[in-house]
Amino acid sequence: MDFEKLRHRMVDEQISRRDIRDPLVLAAMRKVERDKFVPAEFRNLSYGDGPLPIGCNQTISQPYMVAMMTEALQLKGGEVVLEIGTGSGYAAAVLAEIVRKVVTIERLEELADRARALLAELNYDNVTVIMGDGTKGCPSRAPFDGIVVTAGGPEVPQSLRDQLKISGRLVIPVGACETIQTLLRVTRVNEEEFTEEKLCGVRFVPLVGEEGWPRGRHESWSDPRFPTMW
Ligand code: SAM
Repeated sequence: MDFEKLRHRMVDEQISRRDIRDPLVLAAMRKVERDKFVPAEFRNLSYGDGPLPIGCNQTISQPYMVAMMTEALQLKGGEVVLEIGTGSGYAAAVLAEIVRKVVTIERLEELADRARALLAELNYDNVTVIMGDGTKGCPSRAPFDGIVVTAGGPEVPQSLRDQLKISGRLVIPVGACETIQTLLRVTRVNEEEFTEEKLCGVRFVPLVGEEGWPRGRHESWSDPRFPTMW
């Protein structure tokens, strides 16, 4: 398959034909080879318009969703960004094409190890993959210009608010139920004040952790062969 051709078609038809306009985001989506982040058995579907299974009951998000969340961070280049939910490492690679430094946290060791190895193999030397509970953020590397959470939690974790720079943006799916959320952009106005914008409705896999959903009941949320969540 001509993956390069399919990737450009993906950007033309699924990303820029919708509402994504940021040239930095469009260029990054044209460059990062999503097929490298997709398990071999689904590789022919790499440039389709949906999420795909990556093992451990988790998904690589829909390309449009990655583009939309990246654009929502309002990046200019040169920033330091924290991602929660490394998964395959694909969204981290997209961010790494735009910003100076990406720190990404994954709670599942198998996924963290796989993404770390793949990102190193692809020469993304501005990405650090950490295994742990991302709801607590990464205090040792804070503050961040942007934080993006690619799993849905019950509320905005206070630790993540605390680790935003003044005028930094946090993009996160939040919902009272584990599988349906509203995508929020939280902007830090000053030490104490934050503004909140509702961007759209989304369906992400659960954010499991101390400031997310409790562990256990969310471990198996759907048939991993047919992911319906981002
Ligand atoms: N950004 C990923 C990509 O590009 O492939 C997709 C991420 S997937 C939709 C969500 C990920 O969040 C899963 O890998 C899941 O294990 C992870 N996750 C859930 N709760 C987490 C937490 N508290 N800390 C870190 N990762 C978490």
